Amino acid sequence: MKKIMVVNCGSSSLKFRLFEMPSEKLIIKGLFESISKNNTEENFSSQYKIGDFFCKAPIRSHTEAVKILLNYLLENKIIASYDEIDGVGHRIVQGGKYFDKAEVATPDVLKKIEDLCILAPLHNRAHLDGIHAFQEVNKNLVNVVVFDTAFHQTMAPDTYMYALPYDWYEKYDVRKYGAHGTSHKYVAQKCAEVMGKDIKDLKLITCHIGNGASISAVMGGKCIDTSMGLTPLEGIPMGTRSGNIDPAVLEYMNSIDPEKYTVKELLRILNHESGYLGVSKVSHDSRAIEAEVETNPLCRLALEIQYKRIADFIGSYYVHMGGVDAIVFTAGIGENSSRLRREVLKRVSVLGVKCNDEVNDKVRGEVALISTPDSKVKAYLIPTEEELMIARDTYDLVK
Ligand code: ADP
Repeated sequence: MKKIMVVNCGSSSLKFRLFEMPSEKLIIKGLFESISKNNTEENFSSQYKIGDFFCKAPIRSHTEAVKILLNYLLENKIIASYDEIDGVGHRIVQGGKYFDKAEVATPDVLKKIEDLCILAPLHNRAHLDGIHAFQEVNKNLVNVVVFDTAFHQTMAPDTYMYALPYDWYEKYDVRKYGAHGTSHKYVAQKCAEVMGKDIKDLKLITCHIGNGASISAVMGGKCIDTSMGLTPLEGIPMGTRSGNIDPAVLEYMNSIDPEKYTVKELLRILNHESGYLGVSKVSHDSRAIEAEVETNPLCRLALEIQYKRIADFIGSYYVHMGGVDAIVFTAGIGENSSRLRREVLKRVSVLGVKCNDEVNDKVRGEVALISTPDSKVKAYLIPTEEELMIARDTYDLVK
């Protein structure tokens, strides 16, 4: 029996789960929030939750958070010593061209993650802070890095390349990398298990629809296409991201007001003020938009633009794979919004899939077959378990 810690570090947060492996039993989970070097003993906003224990405390760095966490586990006899933690698996957003699988965090691996900060500055920097924190607190802990992009490294050049000057790829690595790979991989594997089939024999389209959203085509267990690109901005519209647009919009808006609409500001708007929020003018949250769908035409439009684009990707992946056995919905919206699942399936009914409304309206956050028995293509709701997938990858490396 081994214990594996899974860690997801943001710039001011640290989320963790401790699993017992190989049983995959969750031992305890928690999170640290508002970590900031500006926190002082007198004035701080940081707090943490470990299991049911909640505490407000000044936490100035990820290292302090890791110290608190490991001390808590020792004091409460959840672990008898640090040796009981066989591996710490860190979620890493950007693995670029270097990583197609999880790796032990050696100095060489960390140097590459550092080099990739240019592609995901906030994320990769925060992940490095997390790894360094664990290394600092106990140098014997084995840190493993699991990349969001790794699952997509099987895409072929005609899919991952943009039709841009080839030099940009050769010199600056400009290409499609995708994201949410750990989630797409998990739900694809789970779908095969639920269908009782070998994943090698399946063509799947996995729809990870949360605040960030992406779609993947998974053939024979390998990702052959995904909707996100060099960055998570590409693809379908999301909570606050635009997804695909004509890039000429940037120059056009810049010509309207060059002072206001600089490239930086335009990219901020595409990332943070577009999508549901931009179109509806109400919220980035699907619950708030769905609540007004019958009364506010812009809320309806925000949703319908997204449904249409999701259907476009499903259609394209169907053609690319020469068919599809199952469409899978997951993540915050995919797992909870019966409306999104129903409306998307309606728009791709030509493929031979029909939503079973009776089941679909009832289920949320649980594995369920949501297509009718006579559907040629099946549709499933499968809750994602990114942390468990990271625990599995970490366990495989350390065992
Ligand atoms: P991310 O990880 O990208 O931040 P999530 O996968 O957590 O996103 O999804 C967040 C979205 O899921 C929000 O738009 C939220 O409205 C939606 N969501 C979460 N819970 C529910 C729910 N119970 N009903 C409907 N939508 C939900």
